[in-house]
Amino acid sequence: MTNELITPHGAVPLPAFFPDATHGALRATGFEDAEDAGLYGCVMNTYHLYNRPGSRLIKSLGGLHKFSGWNRVILTDSGGFQLYSLIHENAAYGEIRDNEIIFRPDQGKEKLTFTPEKCVQAQFQYGSDIMMALDVCTAPDDGDEAQRRAVDLTVKWAARCRAEFDRLTRSMKGAKPLLFGIVQGGADRQLRMACGKALREIGFDGYGFGGWPLDADGRLWVETLQYAAEAMDPDLPRYAMGIGRPEEIVKCVDMGYTLFDCVIPTREARHQRLYCFNKGMATPKGVREENGRFYTFFYALDDRHVRDASPVDESCDCVLCRRYSRAYLHHLFKIGDSQAYRLATAHNLRFYSRLMELLRHE
Ligand SMILES: [Zn+2]
Repeated sequence: MTNELITPHGAVPLPAFFPDATHGALRATGFEDAEDAGLYGCVMNTYHLYNRPGSRLIKSLGGLHKFSGWNRVILTDSGGFQLYSLIHENAAYGEIRDNEIIFRPDQGKEKLTFTPEKCVQAQFQYGSDIMMALDVCTAPDDGDEAQRRAVDLTVKWAARCRAEFDRLTRSMKGAKPLLFGIVQGGADRQLRMACGKALREIGFDGYGFGGWPLDADGRLWVETLQYAAEAMDPDLPRYAMGIGRPEEIVKCVDMGYTLFDCVIPTREARHQRLYCFNKGMATPKGVREENGRFYTFFYALDDRHVRDASPVDESCDCVLCRRYSRAYLHHLFKIGDSQAYRLATAHNLRFYSRLMELLRHE
């Protein structure tokens, strides 16, 4: 297993967690908090940024790093999952054809074409460090035929992404970005293996898990994740896209995944839920014990915090825990002050960063 990912914006020790800054912004907080939290990278979305503010504008402003002020690693998701989700929800948003995705952001007024080549070109305009090939997603309840078609198109599009990437890096000086392929195949082990094999023949710098990682009850789809992990090159980064809760990350690290992204830490913070290590559990051994019982939620609005002068998590060194009490955070949420969201987000980002530090110890 590789324990470091070398990118144009530095080396990332693995396993690593990248928070989602989908639209080029970490919700409720700035990138300085992600830096202070000790995070090495963020995930931004090719499709969302393509719509607004547009890849040309970002390029004219010097690329995503300059535009956003985030000087560490940027991984851009291809946007395939978002387009698929929109179209799956409502066919008026477009259709997935054999050679491209047609989408209508306003359900009919305007028609845009998104191809594997355009997807890679946009990621170059952003100046992204880790680019994702455009893939074709499926829903867990899609039949065999739909799953096979998704794998077939994912592989064809991956080859087109690879060719476009090679064309654009050919004359490039200095450190080149990385390109990851995405393994599809639903819950079918053979299909996952076939997809992985075909992608490895094309050759990528890492591989991502494609599709839905959760079952209908919201539980981690362990077998499917396991099949996909087996289908990827064990010597390269294996990226569990969209995962997840702390205990799910621990499980996936055990399966061989080394890269993660998720909206959970930032979203939970905005809902006044802060992750706290249980006493004595913030150790490499602690996080691997008792199936996720290594942390508890701190519910900031709970009335029992009104007079509590202690920090949210005594073991935490984030800006919130270093400086403010539980009572003060409770008060900030009560009066609806925007600092509450920022401080809670900074804390949750630090929790995830500490979790990854602990998981890097064998
Ligand atoms: Zn903290």
